Amino acid sequence: MDTQKVVIIGGGAAGLSAALYLARAGLAPLVFAGSPPGGQLMLTSDVENFPGQESILGGQLITQMRKQAIKFGAVMRDENVLTLDIKGKNKTVNGVKTQSVILATGARALWLGLDCEKRFRGKGVSACATCDGFFFRNKAVAVVGGGDSALEEALTLTKFASKVYIVHRRAEFKASKIMQKRVLEHEKIEVIWNAEVKDIKGEKKVEGLVLKTEEGEKTLAVDGVFIAIGHKPDTELFKEQVELDKKGYIITSARYGIELLKAQNAPLEVQEKTYDPLFQTMTSESGVFAAGDCVDFIYKQASTAAGTGVQSALDTEKWLEKNEA
Ligand SMILES: Cc1cc2nc3c(=O)[nH]c(=O)nc-3n(C[C@H](O)[C@H](O)[C@H](O)COP(=O)(O)OP(=O)(O)OC[C@H]3O[C@@H](n4cnc5c(N)ncnc54)[C@H](O)[C@@H]3O)c2cc1C
Repeated sequence: MDTQKVVIIGGGAAGLSAALYLARAGLAPLVFAGSPPGGQLMLTSDVENFPGQESILGGQLITQMRKQAIKFGAVMRDENVLTLDIKGKNKTVNGVKTQSVILATGARALWLGLDCEKRFRGKGVSACATCDGFFFRNKAVAVVGGGDSALEEALTLTKFASKVYIVHRRAEFKASKIMQKRVLEHEKIEVIWNAEVKDIKGEKKVEGLVLKTEEGEKTLAVDGVFIAIGHKPDTELFKEQVELDKKGYIITSARYGIELLKAQNAPLEVQEKTYDPLFQTMTSESGVFAAGDCVDFIYKQASTAAGTGVQSALDTEKWLEKNEA
């Protein structure tokens, strides 16, 4: 069987952007786009913050990205990768031999697990304030969660909403003291402690939350609810293959450089790691690159995922030039 020059795992914004660049470079990338393909953008309706697109459905944006990559020679397979060995020189992905690999399997927002959550997704239920906050100008919204990211979401929402409730199931936040101070002092934010969401009410879109509180069941009138209980990168498959952090995000050279700077007197064994600073998106394994939300636990946007996807493609191209026999 022929050896691919590059295999991309993931058919979301990151994987498809990498595919476009590699296809235009004549490398005919093979993309395992997953089943179902498309990634997180398929879960949303209007996307209004992808540069060049005033307003586009998430699914339509993905369709266009796919079409564009295929036009230049990318090959799509809408299947999940179940087996891979990407250590060393002889790499295989689902039985396909390849010289290099890009990991772009993204992440999943964690949801509460209520039936109604799915029904109202894109109709008032969201997991991203930066993405969807704009749709709630002068409206009341609730954020569910109590960690740093929940508080960050709440502060982002104060730029749009008239009122922001934080629904937290404990009597104190897990978040850092500085974040807590900012939230607790904010005039638009009200915290509802020791409360759990039992149900989401509404006809066609969210109209309120049913909460279980210490004083019994209570209805909170809101137009939107942002679930902020964390994200999980889809990287289980890679844990014996490349270095991951405690939460499962793939560590690339760029992050490693930052960590090194932080620990100015880094021990020798840390400095001797195989990361190459020339290839910002390279993982701990030579010839394996990573991009998008499986790496990024901070920005988590379609355009940033596309951006790192492009970086990973350019790194791969350069790496192939240097390493091809
Ligand atoms: C509800 C919602 C609304 C959002 N709205 C916006 C918005 O308005 N604007 C914005 O900029 N961002 C938005 N985002 C964030 C944005 O969708 C993500 O940042 C972006 O999709 C990340 O792209 P990605 O390619 O890294 O990962 P993903 O989109 O998660 O794609 C990962 C891909 O990998 C595939 N995959 C996973 N495992 C395997 C495997 N084993 N084998 C093969 N394939 C696999 C998946 O099927 C998928 O195709 C939103 C996110 C959500 C959840």
